[in-house]
Amino acid sequence: MEYPRKFQIGFQEGTCPLSCKKCFAFGADIERKKEVRKMPMNRAIKLLDEISSLGNHATIQPHIFTEPFANPELKQIIQHCCSKELKMSIITNGILMDDDWIEFLLKQNSQKITVSFSLDAVKQETYEKVRGNYNLAQIESKIDYLIACRKSKNLSIGVNFTAEEDNESERDAFLNKWKYKVDAVRLHRVIYRNKKIIKTEASDQIKECSQLNEVMVIDTGGEVRTCSIDAFGDSYLGNVFEDGIVSVWNGREIQQLRERIHLDRLAENEFCFGCEACGYGGNYLYREDSDFYIADNGYDIFYNHK
Ligand code: SF4
Ligand code: SF4
Repeated sequence: MEYPRKFQIGFQEGTCPLSCKKCFAFGADIERKKEVRKMPMNRAIKLLDEISSLGNHATIQPHIFTEPFANPELKQIIQHCCSKELKMSIITNGILMDDDWIEFLLKQNSQKITVSFSLDAVKQETYEKVRGNYNLAQIESKIDYLIACRKSKNLSIGVNFTAEEDNESERDAFLNKWKYKVDAVRLHRVIYRNKKIIKTEASDQIKECSQLNEVMVIDTGGEVRTCSIDAFGDSYLGNVFEDGIVSVWNGREIQQLRERIHLDRLAENEFCFGCEACGYGGNYLYREDSDFYIADNGYDIFYNHK
């Protein structure tokens, strides 16, 4: 792909009220500490302008490992994306989304903004095991309110379910609960800390990394990382503030890494070595039934309401 189809940008990183067991940055058993870091607003605006100038209508995800609504400057970022006709995808745990944020979101009608709530549970007791000690029903009521009060489907609302041992028995109930209420339900599988996944026949076929081929992950200082699994910045593929997006995306560092993944020639000390999660976020097969468009790659399944 000539340019990334999606940019995950760390405008503000390291702020989240949860410490989910599965989290690569805040999991309770992680010994390293994720520092709070911020991209200066003038650099953030310059970066968004550069993305807009590519003209390929990429999607902006304004966070990597953080809770996006912990960033008060997210409003300015959303407004700038809208003014530049950039679509957005915001993934949230919903905890910090207060009335002020909800009213702000309901006023944004000019561009496509997808807000996906990561809930991972149907029952409160399960939510507490996989997410944390917050009230699931309160978060669900914010979703209901956004759906009921939105003025346009440009504000698209989704829910996410990451299956792990503690919640996998609720997967079908989650899908059935939400699929006719929201615009999209995403069901996916946990990526373990050692970058292993529960394999399926389909995921086993994937030989290329869709993350490296399609998504550019830009950290707060402009450093480009392999993907969002790299929560502590252990990989480095260039710096967009020094070299520009296109030079990094087509640069030797990333091209050679793509090649080594394809040929299965990664060295043991490389960040991607041993990773089984290559297919997440890409390589979809598409089908439809009477009510849904379904995108499935054996790891992720999206149910998009028609
Ligand atoms: S909500 Fe997301 S960023 Fe926060 S701890 Fe959970 S997985 Fe990590
Ligand atoms: S191979 Fe794994 S670690 Fe490397 S970029 Fe792809 S998903 Fe990330």
